[in-house]
Amino acid sequence: MTQNLTELLRAMPKAELHIHIEGSLEPELIFEMARRNGVAIPYASVEDLRKAYAFTNLQSFLDIYYAGASVLLKEQDFHDMAWAYLLRAKADNVIRAEIFFDPQTHTARGVSMETVINGLHRACTNAKSQLGIDAELILCFLRHLSEEEAFDTLEQALPYRDKFIGVGLDSSEVGHPPEKFARVFAKCRQQGLHLVAHAGEEGPPAYVWSALDVLKVERIDHGVQSVKDPALVQRLAKDRIPLTVCPLSNLKLCVFPTLKEHNIRQLLDAGLCATLNSDDPAYFGGYMNDNFVQTFEATGLTKAHAYRLAKNSFEGSFADDAKKREYVQRLDAAFAARGG
Ligand SMILES: [Zn+2]
Repeated sequence: MTQNLTELLRAMPKAELHIHIEGSLEPELIFEMARRNGVAIPYASVEDLRKAYAFTNLQSFLDIYYAGASVLLKEQDFHDMAWAYLLRAKADNVIRAEIFFDPQTHTARGVSMETVINGLHRACTNAKSQLGIDAELILCFLRHLSEEEAFDTLEQALPYRDKFIGVGLDSSEVGHPPEKFARVFAKCRQQGLHLVAHAGEEGPPAYVWSALDVLKVERIDHGVQSVKDPALVQRLAKDRIPLTVCPLSNLKLCVFPTLKEHNIRQLLDAGLCATLNSDDPAYFGGYMNDNFVQTFEATGLTKAHAYRLAKNSFEGSFADDAKKREYVQRLDAAFAARGG
């Protein structure tokens, strides 16, 4: 890959639409919070913890992910975790971030919804004024838990309705189809919340169909299995449904054997509104620009693909139209400055 393209990938403004804030918790911060909160963790050192990050599938990752999150107790912890991510986002020229959080991972340990949301939201507010990043929160329901627990979580979160813009669905996909949460998502829709869901990461195209038609989501997180169903690809193209694709995550969790075999090019060339994202960057070996540079290097994507990916990230965001126009103008200026 040319030096020019690498620099353009790094410098171009972009939006991140698929980042789990608990998945941005670096081992150093896990150890620091464990120390200051007096929490015991079953790893001897930062290196020891990093070594455990050799995953074989989604579940093997989730087991360690939930252990790491156990150090988060106070509002300041949630703020500090989000702030560390936002500084990395700034360095990668992310100008908008729509950040997932998993309240059930925390409320199940006795941490209040207020603590979680206020800490994260304070970091997002500061990001706007201090870093120039438009940062918003999306509350995710853990799909391996019950519908009733999701309703409870929504109930606890609604007093803070003004501090998050949407809801999503994450955690163990296979065996937990979207339709399990049809009634919860219907209630969220009534509240005017944006709707997204993980589907078609490891699960079948049928899960993408039901996320669209039963949950009525506006975006699909991952969705890479959609290519197995040509009718689904047509539907995604026709309705410009954004896919938040996460190549380094897919590689680490063995969704694709190598990055070279990733289907991002196929998705883009089929006319889909695909985007690149980091998912759980502390665990999967890379933030936004790592995902861009490594994916382009492995698959031979071009400058035209770079422009499309960044533009798709703004189009697929939940920003208002005026904001979207402003983002695309900044993208055009970045390309013009580097010879169009
Ligand atoms: Zn994810």
